[in-house]
Amino acid sequence: MTEQPGPVPMVDDVPSCHLTSRRIPPRAPGLRMAVALVVSVASLAGCNGKTGGGVKPPELPVPPRGKTDPRRPAAPGSVEPAWKIPPGVAARKWRYVVIHHSGTDEGSAAAFDRYHRKVKGWKGLAYHFVIGNGRGTVDGAVEVGSRWKGQRVGAHAGVPKYNNFGIGICLVGNFEKSVPTKKQMEALRRLLRYVMSRFDIRSSDVIRHCDIVPTKCPGKRFPWPILPPPK
Ligand SMILES: [Zn+2]
Repeated sequence: MTEQPGPVPMVDDVPSCHLTSRRIPPRAPGLRMAVALVVSVASLAGCNGKTGGGVKPPELPVPPRGKTDPRRPAAPGSVEPAWKIPPGVAARKWRYVVIHHSGTDEGSAAAFDRYHRKVKGWKGLAYHFVIGNGRGTVDGAVEVGSRWKGQRVGAHAGVPKYNNFGIGICLVGNFEKSVPTKKQMEALRRLLRYVMSRFDIRSSDVIRHCDIVPTKCPGKRFPWPILPPPK
């Protein structure tokens, strides 16, 4: 049985994972439409770079190639035990990775879990992993959600295919206005290397939320493509 996280999102609900997603009262159809148009246009301009004239390229908060951050042990390929699928749980046939930002300055898996349950009415944290920025959790810490531990469908993408077969990774932060921390990006690369290797996911199937729906997520300042590219 496939868990369905909810109805197909309304346009104003497309940035479904974010605490900042706008909720328009259902009895304001005109306003809903106007906001939806604004959100759509602005969002699309912020993602693929096709219409981003004048937008500065994102800053890359990563050490130069071939150099490691001296503040942390060199463990570029290290896999944290918590990432592994618990014994007795059947691995899902993951084919994609969808990258998100939280749209908030701070947060944690627990905070987003509460929001997704109580406000969105979903079955808990929409993502499979949350990577902290030091405000709510440790900078670069990878939190593993219950949907990963149970190998369950996500509720992060707004598109059934990507919810069913996409691993949802959320970096805490609002990358419309700031960039991820170095430790967040290092953790993301390590996690990507693991899941891509484990499930044979191609680089081209590691995508941003804005690549599949009209949303700003994960923000125009999110480094893209990710350098160095995950293997
Ligand atoms: Zn998102």
